[in-house]
Amino acid sequence: MNYINPYTGATIQTYQEYSSEEVDTIIGQVDVAFQQWKLTEFDYRSTLMKNLQNQLIDQKAELAAIMSAEMGKVMREALGEIEKCAFVCSYYATYGKSFLKNERVITEASESYITYQPIGTVLAVMPWNFPFWQVFRFLAPALMAGNTAVLKHASNVPGCAMAIEQLVRQAGFPENVFRTLLIGSSSVKAVIEHPLIKAVTLTGSTPAGKSVAAAAGSVLKKSVLELGGSDPYLILEDADIATAAQLCVKSRLMNAGQSCISAKRFIVASPIYEDFKAEFVRFMGEATFGDPLDELSTIGPLARVDLRNELHQQVETSRLMGASVLVGGYIPDGNGAFYPPTVLENVSPGMPAYNEELFGPVAVLFRFHSEEEAIHIANATLFGLGAAIFTSDVAKGKMLAEKGLEAGCVFINDFVKSDPRLPFGGIKESGYGRELSVAGIREFVNIKTVVVK
Ligand code: NAP
Repeated sequence: MNYINPYTGATIQTYQEYSSEEVDTIIGQVDVAFQQWKLTEFDYRSTLMKNLQNQLIDQKAELAAIMSAEMGKVMREALGEIEKCAFVCSYYATYGKSFLKNERVITEASESYITYQPIGTVLAVMPWNFPFWQVFRFLAPALMAGNTAVLKHASNVPGCAMAIEQLVRQAGFPENVFRTLLIGSSSVKAVIEHPLIKAVTLTGSTPAGKSVAAAAGSVLKKSVLELGGSDPYLILEDADIATAAQLCVKSRLMNAGQSCISAKRFIVASPIYEDFKAEFVRFMGEATFGDPLDELSTIGPLARVDLRNELHQQVETSRLMGASVLVGGYIPDGNGAFYPPTVLENVSPGMPAYNEELFGPVAVLFRFHSEEEAIHIANATLFGLGAAIFTSDVAKGKMLAEKGLEAGCVFINDFVKSDPRLPFGGIKESGYGRELSVAGIREFVNIKTVVVK
C-alpha cells in the first residue's frame, strides 16, 4: 500500500498489508476489548468521546496535512473536515446516552420496555474522499453505543487510517476498542465472514456496496450502505438566479467534485435557462485548480491519476455521442491528477454523463418545460441520495421535496450537506440504512424487548 501524493506523484511511504493471521489476531483482540467495553457506563464513554473531540482540535493542522498529502484535498476544506469530526464526537458524547436509554411501553404486562444493547465488533469499509469524516460519523455513534470496531480504509489513505487509530488510543479509549486493518478489498469478504464480526457498514461505490451486501447476506449479518449519488438540483423559474448559480457551483466543486452529495445535475426552468447557464459557466470557469496547500486554489488534484482519466473518458464519450462542452473538458499539461471545472449540456439518455455518477468537477445542465418534466429528469437515475430545489415559493419546494423527488434528503434554497443532527443516507442504488442523528446510533444495536408479567 503506497502513500502517494496526487499533486506531486511522489511515494511518501509504503505500508505492508496485514496477513490473514494478523487480521485474525486483531479481530480476536477487539472482541476481548468488547467484552469489557459493552459493560462501561455512558458517562465514561462520553468523557472519552470528548477527549477525542479535543485531540482532533489540538492536532487539526497535522491531521489535515496528512489528508491533503494523501488525496489532494485543499487545506481549507481539510481543516473544516477535522472540525466536523470534532462536532460529531461532541454530538454523540452529549446525546448518545439519551438516544439509547430504556423506553417504557404500556402493555397488559406489569412492565414492558425496550433496551438498546451493543452487538459487538462492526467492520467499517470506508472511502478516501472524506477520509476522516466518513470514519468519524460511523466511529462516534458505534463506540458510544458500546460496540467495538475495525476499519478497512481505502487503499490510498493508509496514513489517515493509522492516524485515526492512534487518535482513539490517545483519547484514552481502552486498547483494541477501535483498530485499523491494513488490507485490500479482496480480503473484505473473509472479514465479514469472521464469526467475531457482527455487522458491516460500507461507504463507497455501488459495485463495492453490492459485493459487501452479498457477502453480509450470505452469513446473515446486518449491513448499512452509503453509496454513490447523482444529485439533481432543480432551479425553478422563480429562483434567485445569481444565488442559485453560486451555491450550485460551490456544491459541484467542493472536494474537487469528489463527494457523493455534490450537486451533479442541474435541471433549469426553460425561461431562465440561458441566464442561469451564463452565471453558472462563469463561476465554474473562474475556479482555480492548483497546489492543495496554496490558499488561492479553489480545488486541488483529484485523488488518483486513474480516477482523473476515468472521469475524462466519461466526458469524452459523452462529447462524441453529442454532448456540448461549455467549459473545461481537457486534461491539463503538467504534473498532478488535475481536472478543470467542466460544464456539459445537450446530454441525453445513454451517455455516461446522463447515466453514471461523475466523481469530479463536471456538471451537466438540463432544461425543463414543466414541473413534471423536471421531476422526471431528476428521478431518471439509479441513484437516490440527495437533491436540492431553488425557488422563492417554499411551499411548492416542500411539496416537490416530499412527494416528487426520489432522494434520502432534499434541501431547499441551499446545497446538500451532512449534519450530525440529521439522518443521512439514500434510497435506490445509493444504498440503505442511515448514519448520524438518533437513526445512526440505532443501526448497530440490538433493539431488545423486555417484558415482566
Ligand atoms: P470504492 O472504490 O467503492 O471504495 C470504497 C471502499 O470500499 C474502499 O475501502 C475500497 O477498498 C472498498 N472496496 C472496493 N471494492 C470493494 C469490494 N468489491 N468489496 C469490498 N470492499 C471494496 O469507492 P471510492 O472510489 O473509494 O469512493 C467513491 C465512491 O464512494 C463514490 O461512488 C461516492 O459517491 C461514494 N461515497 C458515498 C458516500 C455516501 O455517504 N453515500 C460518501 C462518500 C463517498 P480499496 O480502496 O482497497 O479498493
